[in-house]
Amino acid sequence: MSTSPPDGRESAASEVPAASFLFSVDLEDVRSLVPNGMRYAERVPHNVDAYLRFLARHECRATFFTVGDVARRYPDLIARIAAEGHELGCHTSDHTPLERLGPDGLRADLERNVADLERAGARDIKGFRAPIFSLTDRTAWAYEVLRDLGFSYSSSVLPHANPMYGWDGFGTRCVRTPSGVWEIPLSVSGVVGRKLPFAGGVYFRVLPAIFVRRLIRRQRMAGRPVVGYFHPYDLDTEQERFMHPELGDSRILNSLMYLNRSRVLRRLDAVVAGGATIVRYDAYVREVLERARGG
Ligand SMILES: [Zn+2]
Repeated sequence: MSTSPPDGRESAASEVPAASFLFSVDLEDVRSLVPNGMRYAERVPHNVDAYLRFLARHECRATFFTVGDVARRYPDLIARIAAEGHELGCHTSDHTPLERLGPDGLRADLERNVADLERAGARDIKGFRAPIFSLTDRTAWAYEVLRDLGFSYSSSVLPHANPMYGWDGFGTRCVRTPSGVWEIPLSVSGVVGRKLPFAGGVYFRVLPAIFVRRLIRRQRMAGRPVVGYFHPYDLDTEQERFMHPELGDSRILNSLMYLNRSRVLRRLDAVVAGGATIVRYDAYVREVLERARGG
């Protein structure tokens, strides 16, 4: 895998900019997270195809943190993601938050997650994202499990208090944890008096586009990576209406889950047109983080 930027905008001396856009898809099937969800229409292959075409159009490679059950159900899709030069990372076997898995549970779960991805053609899996950013000060034991299993990084911390998760006080910088595993925290910024993510998911869709672009530009100007996350459903305008999981049955929050999905690709195009360079997380770890510490 070459780490040189496909768009050639950066010089050869800095193949991966410190201010890269770490674009990722948390590849899960939302149907498997709601009761009787499989009665709804299959949307994952269609939605992943849209992301892959977006990435191909801009000639860039990104990271897909993939749940094991998706790899089992769609091995050809996983093979295509790998064949097109993208990175596959783990997102647990069934999207179970870390505190419910516990250390031994996480170990067994990730061994299955890796095996399912490898069976579908993924190689050299180095990255992990905890479901719903459930890596906090209470589940920091996860880094030792990740080290033992050969992972080199995690991108699982929302570095601010949040109604569900969040690790307040973690800080916004990438950190090499005592286990040796890097943590690449989600980018957050002050929005209406609260620190919120802005470069992914519902926030990217719901916040005004010009405001999001400004936050992304500010992050890049500060020489920091822009760390975001998208789901298959984030760009799906045809998904049936149902209550999404983990929203506390709030109809208001659930309506936000469907808002502005038709604008996601256009907004992403504008971010790339504004100069953001999308790179794989593993390339960022190798070319920026490890290099900065003389590795
Ligand atoms: Zn997820």
